[in-house]
Amino acid sequence: MHSPLVVLGGGPGGYAAAFLAADEGLEVTIVESETRLGGTCLLRGCIPSKALLHVAKIISDVEELRQDWGVDYGERPNVSIDKVRARKDQVIATLTGGLGQLAKRRNVTIIQARGSFIDSTTLRLEGDHESIPEGGTLTFDQCILATGSVPAIPPAFDIGSDRVMDSTGALSLPDIPEKLLIVGGGYIGLEMLNVYASFGTKVTVVEMADRLLPGADADLVKPLAKRIDKLCEGRVLVGTKVGSLTEVDDRIEVTFEGPKHFGHEQFDRVLVSIGRRPVTRGLGLENTKCIINERGFVVTDTQQRTADPHIFAIGDVAGDPMLAHKATHEGRVAAEVIAGKASAFDKVAIPAVVFTDPEIAWAGLTETDAKKAGVEYQVEAYPWAASGRAQALGITDGLTKWLVDPETHRVIGCGIVGTGAGELIAEAVLAIEMGCEMHDITDSIHPHPTLSETLMNAGEVYFGTATEIF
Ligand code: FAD
Repeated sequence: MHSPLVVLGGGPGGYAAAFLAADEGLEVTIVESETRLGGTCLLRGCIPSKALLHVAKIISDVEELRQDWGVDYGERPNVSIDKVRARKDQVIATLTGGLGQLAKRRNVTIIQARGSFIDSTTLRLEGDHESIPEGGTLTFDQCILATGSVPAIPPAFDIGSDRVMDSTGALSLPDIPEKLLIVGGGYIGLEMLNVYASFGTKVTVVEMADRLLPGADADLVKPLAKRIDKLCEGRVLVGTKVGSLTEVDDRIEVTFEGPKHFGHEQFDRVLVSIGRRPVTRGLGLENTKCIINERGFVVTDTQQRTADPHIFAIGDVAGDPMLAHKATHEGRVAAEVIAGKASAFDKVAIPAVVFTDPEIAWAGLTETDAKKAGVEYQVEAYPWAASGRAQALGITDGLTKWLVDPETHRVIGCGIVGTGAGELIAEAVLAIEMGCEMHDITDSIHPHPTLSETLMNAGEVYFGTATEIF
């Protein structure tokens, strides 16, 4: 079988690329090893985690009502884990079903098989699904590689126990453990911490770096770290390494090595969330001209072309940040380039959101990155304690800040911590993409009373004209 364009992998990078290419009039085939399209994001990432985090947020809001605001619904919530799991699975089923319809409407062929390269224009297809063509090979003119990433589990933690989970295991909600250890204080670990702690699990989090979310700006992490410390009742072990995991009866014994925390403790379950690795092994990439860099990513240019003229690469397999919207955007670029358009990806404002409570979001340059790169910037922050809406909502620990080029007054970065930060950051993405100057933000009327005003207020602080109107 021959298909002019083959997309290997049906995640948010792959299916977006396939749909956009079909919209450009190209004949497209997706090769996906799973039974459904959607990839990590839809099946075991962004969407299931947000479905669970929404439940967690309602529980914590009700708890706040009870403790501080004089509305008491009675006892602590009684969580029916089967129902929570069923709702999350229904959300996934609705969305994956929709993807199947969208593929059909565009005449995109879907082959359910594991694909690997025999050479630069031929894939071997393995599996037993009826969609696999006779002979088990598929030739193409162009291929978009979109095989994504999988959790990285070091061999020392891979002890063959189902009590040691990765993010996929944690999202499947096997039960509500009494004691859970989360290894890794990155965004995936902290999102799952919010979920399990709100269900009543005693969570401990251990992070090798000296603070949670080591890649994010410290002032944004501070309010979240405070909230997490409360949720975990102090069981936040930073600057601490996990030495070993051993299954002892129905529990996992963990040894800790760190200046402050040394010794061992038993847990019902352990979630290992210390990072993800791009899927390049077993793909036969050595039979192509693709180059893999020292971090395991397939090297591409700004048009998503690899070193092999027949192969493009997008999404998690093609480099950081490993985020769904970055994968989708790269999919768009690859599809448009293959369709003959002069598209390219200038990565100036990829937003990142940590969907914890409170949320953290940033776009453009962070202070951490600006300092590393020696970029001159001026930073102006607006504390949410001065926002009427934040006071009304009881979320005064938030902060909105802009990074500005002091010479041109252009906005070059934005960071927000607080409820809804993930929605608020979209304005900053647009501003940075459009090359806005700080006055463009302050001259734009923001609705009152909203949290979006804090973006305007932080700009006013920059000009020394802040007018606190509550
Ligand atoms: P993937 O989604 O990983 O899809 C790759 C597809 O390729 C898979 O379906 C796989 O089965 C298929 N495949 C692999 N090898 C083969 C082969 N040889 N043959 C055939 N098929 C193959 N990102 C966000 O932006 N926001 C979030 O809130 C967010 N939350 C997350 C929460 C969790 C718990 C996790 C784990 C991830 C989260 N992410 C989030 C990251 C996001 O899921 C990924 O960045 C995104 O899915 C990457 O898309 P992709 O298309 O590159 O790859």
